[in-house]
Amino acid sequence: MTEKSRAVLFKRIMIINPSSSVKMTKEGRVIMSLNISFEPPRMPLSMAIMAAGLEQRSGDVKIVDSVNMGLSRASERAIIASYGPDLVIVNASTPTITDDMASIRDAKSLGAYTAAFGQHIDALPLETMADHPDLDFCFLQEPELVAAKFVDHWNSRDKLDNSLGLAYRSEDGQPILTPPYPRASLETFPPPARHLLDQSLYRLPDGEIYTTLLASRGCPYDCGFCVAPVYHGLKTRRRDPISLVNEVIEVAENSHIRAVMFQSDLFTSQKKWVIEVCQELIQRAPPIRWICNSRVDTVDEETLVMMKKAGCFLIGVGIESGSPRMLSVLGKKKVEPERIEWMIHTCRRLGIMTNGSFVIGYPGETIESLRQTEELVMRLPLDFAVFMCAAPFPGTRLYQYLTDPETPHRLTGNWENIAFHDYVIEGGLSPETVKQFNSRIWRKYFFSLHYAKLRLRDLKHPVRLTKTIWYALKRLQKMRKSFR
Ligand code: SF4
Repeated sequence: MTEKSRAVLFKRIMIINPSSSVKMTKEGRVIMSLNISFEPPRMPLSMAIMAAGLEQRSGDVKIVDSVNMGLSRASERAIIASYGPDLVIVNASTPTITDDMASIRDAKSLGAYTAAFGQHIDALPLETMADHPDLDFCFLQEPELVAAKFVDHWNSRDKLDNSLGLAYRSEDGQPILTPPYPRASLETFPPPARHLLDQSLYRLPDGEIYTTLLASRGCPYDCGFCVAPVYHGLKTRRRDPISLVNEVIEVAENSHIRAVMFQSDLFTSQKKWVIEVCQELIQRAPPIRWICNSRVDTVDEETLVMMKKAGCFLIGVGIESGSPRMLSVLGKKKVEPERIEWMIHTCRRLGIMTNGSFVIGYPGETIESLRQTEELVMRLPLDFAVFMCAAPFPGTRLYQYLTDPETPHRLTGNWENIAFHDYVIEGGLSPETVKQFNSRIWRKYFFSLHYAKLRLRDLKHPVRLTKTIWYALKRLQKMRKSFR
């Protein structure tokens, strides 16, 4: 990067969530096709936090959430052309990397500098820059804060190697890294720039608008398939419960939004903190309903009772498998199927809905372990469930294992195939077996008498029930096609 090429100052900045052939949520460790899950369209929180930091510097920032706006590549390009940004930043992930880099190419051809961040970029910055010459910069580790500091350095013409957590090109075009950006307290993150997004795009299955709040980052459990320990670190950083609930109150009062998702890698990683958040919500916040995630060995009845009292209505639970052996292989050594049943039944009794996620086809999976998973699924009173093919995202232990030539399993396919709806592991069960299981199990569960009885509870809310059924049917139709 020559000094001459730095004549432009970054005054007008655009952050894009590019559309892709498969509609994806790309947020932290969640890289989820909307076609295989009940995941509602989710506000791109990292982009909104990044935009808030950049707005303080340049004042002229635009977010384009092409995924949830349903924009075509041509429409997105037209928006870039009419806005005329100096810098375009793209949210990228492994299965969408080709489409993400197409947006980078478009931006470059329209005269902008280009940058990317996200799970794939964090794991493979130099490789991605080498493969995509139109990509000028990567924001790593804490991309929201790195982007803001980078713009400060750029606009003050400071040396780029003083900008931590950055990948950029040397004068001869070779990608180079600066030292990592240190993990930061979440209190140093600015509140997301929600005013730059159309909040009506983000609705729960029953149609209510909801928003996402950053609650914590990082997870100490290091499950072999999960991006969280690499992307956000093994140490959990939590928001101060007072500041988190202040944001809930601010959202409720200013935007009249009464449903929120607390975004965390593992919301329930510390009981004391969860209880404090619940107490703050009960004492100070207006009535809201909220969603979080959990792991079965991190909650007890007291915590769940408190969460329900504070408005929790849905918990995403990483169940993964019904086989004790596979649970151990996946990184959930202390989790027993009995504990899974206890948590899901307790939530049901308390009136908290559950969305269970399962990982199918991890190395070591057998027909017998699939049978154990199926039996467990049919015993659980889950409200929603998602069955994912084991996906070796770069940076995970699973990816390292599959790319080690000494191991009996191998990675096949392209980046596009590394996704929860596709299967790229060779050396164990066949892709047909894994996909057929996923395709069959959700039908068996959702069209069972067992599930119909569970739903009778919703008869008390006929409008909500009708909207949810309509939403679920549309999603189930997409799931049917996804695992073919
Ligand atoms: S407990 Fe959840 S967030 Fe933590 S590593 Fe395992 S899957 Fe990831």
